[in-house]
Amino acid sequence: MTDSLTSPSVVNTVGGPLPVLVAGAGPVGLVAATALAAEGVPVVIVEAERELPDGLRASTFHPPTLDMLDRFGVSQKLVEQGLVCPQWQFRDRKDGPVATFDLSVLQGETNYPYRLQCEQWRLTRMLRDQLAENPDVRFLYDARATSVTQDADGVTLVIERPDCSQESIRGSWLIGADGARSAVRKSLNIGFEGQTIPELFLTCSTTFQYQDVLPNLSNIAYISDPQEWFVLLRTTSLWRLLLPTDPNEPEEVMLSDRRIQERMQEVFPKSGDYEIKHRTAYRVHERVAESYVQGRVLLAGDAAHVNNPLGGMGMNGGIHDAFNLVEKLTRVMRGEDAALLGRYERQRRKVALEVVQQQALRNRATLNQRDPAVRRAALDELRATAEDKVRHKEYLLRTSMIASLRALEAVA
Ligand SMILES: Cc1cc2nc3c(=O)[nH]c(=O)nc-3n(C[C@H](O)[C@H](O)[C@H](O)COP(=O)(O)OP(=O)(O)OC[C@H]3O[C@@H](n4cnc5c(N)ncnc54)[C@H](O)[C@@H]3O)c2cc1C
Repeated sequence: MTDSLTSPSVVNTVGGPLPVLVAGAGPVGLVAATALAAEGVPVVIVEAERELPDGLRASTFHPPTLDMLDRFGVSQKLVEQGLVCPQWQFRDRKDGPVATFDLSVLQGETNYPYRLQCEQWRLTRMLRDQLAENPDVRFLYDARATSVTQDADGVTLVIERPDCSQESIRGSWLIGADGARSAVRKSLNIGFEGQTIPELFLTCSTTFQYQDVLPNLSNIAYISDPQEWFVLLRTTSLWRLLLPTDPNEPEEVMLSDRRIQERMQEVFPKSGDYEIKHRTAYRVHERVAESYVQGRVLLAGDAAHVNNPLGGMGMNGGIHDAFNLVEKLTRVMRGEDAALLGRYERQRRKVALEVVQQQALRNRATLNQRDPAVRRAALDELRATAEDKVRHKEYLLRTSMIASLRALEAVA
């Protein structure tokens, strides 16, 4: 791993082929970089932060994502570091389990018939360590992409250092995997239409063992309630809670010990305080970029689409983008028509709009439904789905993102 660029204002790869530039060393950027490196393509990864971010973000790996990551030899390691969850469920806050889904029915459809609860930073660290061994891969940390220009032969990316100095990097292509606020997307004036969810999402994690007090609790549980829905997610050592939060509540109150204890006590009253390990509040958007491909610049992951986290599809969908994109980009680099990249956009944009966004919105609507009749109907429907063998499996093929990948072949 090198960050040897100190003085020159223009970084060149004189004598060798131009590298593919990847903006952002999140899960999507690093999967794309690893897939490119596996094809022998030189890569430069620019990351705004000094270290790989290790915040509390995605924690669910769906089965097809683990199938894909297998080729890098990391899936088994993730399994060893994570919590294997064959079951997940919808619950009613008062009445308990409504529908419990069992991913072991996907045996034969995937090598990983379960959801794996494992923090996304574990994946990024594993991929970084592998990439660090490859002499064709360079990491530039403290390097914030600010703007990009392109011509017939390549792209020029301007990066800004913490001291505000700027450098230009030349590459053959640029993958913008620089997250929801993507500077690459903004630099190209690509629209990011959609909506902002009215409530904030508060996540906190605790050592408290909910499985000991809530009967028949799965390790992943979506808890519906007309007053206050919430989500419980278990990792190897902690439980994470996700709670909708009034955006008018000042952040210092929302994140204060007193308020968090109060809210945790509402979820499950107990004597004494909860031990809280992390807390974050964030605003959630449902947006999809109007295009994913502009000449030699390609968007993937959160830079291309964001959605609410109900269903754990943000990181997974982004990783699916990266595999799809690199497969086509390497073919184009070997001489196939660049129009092939248009298919990347058509396939993955369709998934973002018609599958991920719709499923995430449906999940939110099921959880926060206030109309008693509509709520009862939604929960009855889930119950009936779980009880019917055929529908149970179809539902899991859809929600674990296998069906959306299979449907891509039909997209021209
Ligand atoms: C608090 C929180 C909780 C979440 N929980 C879940 C969940 O439970 N399940 C789920 O599926 N998803 C969840 N998500 C979403 C999930 O984390 C994202 O979908 C996923 O991280 C997308 O990966 P990415 O690589 O596209 O972007 P990111 O993970 O955002 O990575 C982008 C990288 O680019 C870097 N960067 C940013 N700007 C620049 C720049 N200008 N130049 C260079 N580098 C730059 C960043 O430092 C970062 O390393 C959550 C997100 C948040 C914020």
